[in-house]
Amino acid sequence: MTDVINPATGGVLTSVPSLDLAGTDAAIDRAQRAFAGWRQVAPGDRARLLRRFAALVDAHLDELADLEVRNAGHTIGNARWEAGNVRDVLDYYAGAPERLTGRQIPVAGGLDVTFHEPLGVVGIIVPWNFPMPIAGWGFAPALAAGNTVVLKPAELTPLTAIRLGELGLEAGLPEGVFTVLPGKGSVVGQRFVTHPAVRKVCFTGSTEVGKSIMAGCAAQVKRVTLELGGKSANIVFADADLERAAAAAPASVFDNAGQDCCARSRLLVQDSVYDRFLALLEPAVKAFRVLDPASPDAEMGPLISAGQRTGVAGYVEGADVAFTGTAPDGDGWWFPPTVLLAHSTAERHWREEVFGPVLSVLPFRDEQEAVRLANDTAYGLSGSIWTRDLGRALRMSRAVESGNLSVNSHSSVRYWTPFGGMKESGLGRELGPDALLSFTDTKNVFLATD
Ligand code: NDP
Repeated sequence: MTDVINPATGGVLTSVPSLDLAGTDAAIDRAQRAFAGWRQVAPGDRARLLRRFAALVDAHLDELADLEVRNAGHTIGNARWEAGNVRDVLDYYAGAPERLTGRQIPVAGGLDVTFHEPLGVVGIIVPWNFPMPIAGWGFAPALAAGNTVVLKPAELTPLTAIRLGELGLEAGLPEGVFTVLPGKGSVVGQRFVTHPAVRKVCFTGSTEVGKSIMAGCAAQVKRVTLELGGKSANIVFADADLERAAAAAPASVFDNAGQDCCARSRLLVQDSVYDRFLALLEPAVKAFRVLDPASPDAEMGPLISAGQRTGVAGYVEGADVAFTGTAPDGDGWWFPPTVLLAHSTAERHWREEVFGPVLSVLPFRDEQEAVRLANDTAYGLSGSIWTRDLGRALRMSRAVESGNLSVNSHSSVRYWTPFGGMKESGLGRELGPDALLSFTDTKNVFLATD
C-alpha cells in the first residue's frame, strides 16, 4: 500500500494498493482478452457507451474535483475545469467510432480499400501534474478507436484515475476494457513498455523518463506518444497591449503552481519597454491569490510534494529575485510566485524546467534576437507572442520552434485542436481530430476484379 498525501496540509489522505509485476501482467492479460470483444462492438454502441461514461463523469464532477483538490492541491476552479475536460474529451471522441472510415483508392485491375484497425492494448502512463486531463486525452481516443486500455496514474495522485475507472465500469464498459493500475513507474509503467501485448504507450512526464521509454519501446517496435517537459517563452513586443500582457502573465506561469509543461516560464520583453513592463507585472504578481486550494478565490495552491518544493527552492537560491508574491505559512508545500532576473542565458533557472512558480525575465533588442532566445532551448512545447503587428505575429509564429503557440493570449489547450511538442518536448500529437488515427494501424487491401 502507498500513502496518498494532501499537499496543502502534508497529512495522509488515504492509502492505495501498489500493483506488483504479477498483478500488472494479469491486468494486461485481461485487457488483451477483452480486446477481441471490444473491437467487435458496433460503432454506434461503442459511441453510446462513451457518451454514457461522459455523462457519469459530468454527474460526478464535484466529487472528482474535490478529490483533485485534496490529492493534487489543485484550485477548485481548475479541478472543476479538469473534470469537465475529461467529460468533453469523452464526448468529442464518442463521435469517432462511426466516423473512423477508410478510403477507396483507384488502382488498375481492382479495388484498393483501407481500414483503420485498432492496435490492441494501449498503456497510458500519467504524471501527477494534471491527473485527470492527461488520462482522458489517452483513454478516450484509444477506446473510441476500439483498443482496450491499461492506465497507470502517478503514485502521488492516483485517486481521480481510480474513480474514473469505476465510473467507466458503471457506464457499462465491459470488464478489462479500461483498467486503472496504481503502482510504481519502475514496475507497472515499465511493464507497459516490455509486455508484448501492449502495442502502444502514451507517456506524459519528464524528458529523461520519456527518452528511456522511447528506447524501451524500440525493442518491440511499439508505438509511442511522448508529452514531455517545456521551457516556454512569453515574448512581449513594445507595440503590444502591455497592460493586457502584464495582467495575463502571472497565470501563464503560476497556474497549477507552475507545475505545467506549458508554463510560460521565460519572459522575454523588448528592451524599450522592459522597465515599464516589470512595473506593470509586479502588482499583478503580488495580487496573485495563493490560498487554500478549496477556496473559490484561490488562483494557486501548494506544490505537489516536499521534494518538489526543495527542488524549486534550489533554483531561487543565489538568483537575482526581482519580486515575489505571497503564500500561506504553516503546513503544506507552499511556495510564493517568484520573479527572477536572468543576467545570462547560462543561468540554471533560465535553462532548466523548474516546474514551480518561478518566472525568469530577460530583455531582447529586436525580432531576430527574440527568435534566437526563444529557440535557445532543448524544449519546444508552447509559448506566447504579444504584438499588435499581424505580420510580426505570423512571422514569429512560424519562427518559434514550438508545438502550441498563442498570439495575444496564453491559451494552449482545446480538446478539438492538436496538442504536442517539438524537439525534446515530445513526439506525436494528442487531442483534435487526427489523434484518433494514432491509435490505429492503417491496413491497405487490394481486391483484384479482373
Ligand atoms: P516522471 O517522468 O518520473 O513520472 C511521470 C510518470 O511516469 C509517473 O506516472 C511515473 O510513475 C512514471 N514513471 C517513472 N519512471 C518510469 C519508468 N521507468 N517507466 C515507466 N513509467 C515511469 O516525472 P516526475 O513525477 O518524477 O517529475 C519529475 C520532473 O519531470 C518534474 O519536476 C517536471 O520537471 C517533469 N514533469 C513533466 C511533466 C509534463 O507534463 N511534461 C509531468 C510531470 C513531470 P511514479 O508515479 O511511480 O513515479
